[in-house]
Amino acid sequence: MSLQCASCGNVTMVDQHGDYSYRWPEELSRKPSVFRGADWRECRNCGVVLLSPSLIERIEIKRYKIAGLLTPAEVKAARTRLGLTQVQMARQLGVGDKSYTRWENGLSIQSKAIDTLIRAVILFPDVLTAVEQSRRS
Ligand SMILES: [Zn+2]
Repeated sequence: MSLQCASCGNVTMVDQHGDYSYRWPEELSRKPSVFRGADWRECRNCGVVLLSPSLIERIEIKRYKIAGLLTPAEVKAARTRLGLTQVQMARQLGVGDKSYTRWENGLSIQSKAIDTLIRAVILFPDVLTAVEQSRRS
């Protein structure tokens, strides 16, 4: 069964399932990633591709991994392990709470410096308390 293509208007959009090769922006990686067992739709006429939500999510997670950054779920897991709210975590990291919330929701990507700091918190949960104490001494 074919669906209408939003790009060319022909009823030539077909469901695809299999290995999907995704090409990254040059600055991120020159090597494409292959996502096995992926679902997408492709127009047989104009070649336009529509990725399934689950494939988009897999690509996004892989993007963080390639960049060497924690995924939004990993950032959230770090915070909940500390028993902090988003606002408390933002204060501890010294960033705006809106910025912090965007990293957890995947609406923006944390810098490498912030990522390093969050990783330090994961490895050494007392590190922020120790830093705060050193500021006061
Ligand atoms: Zn088309």
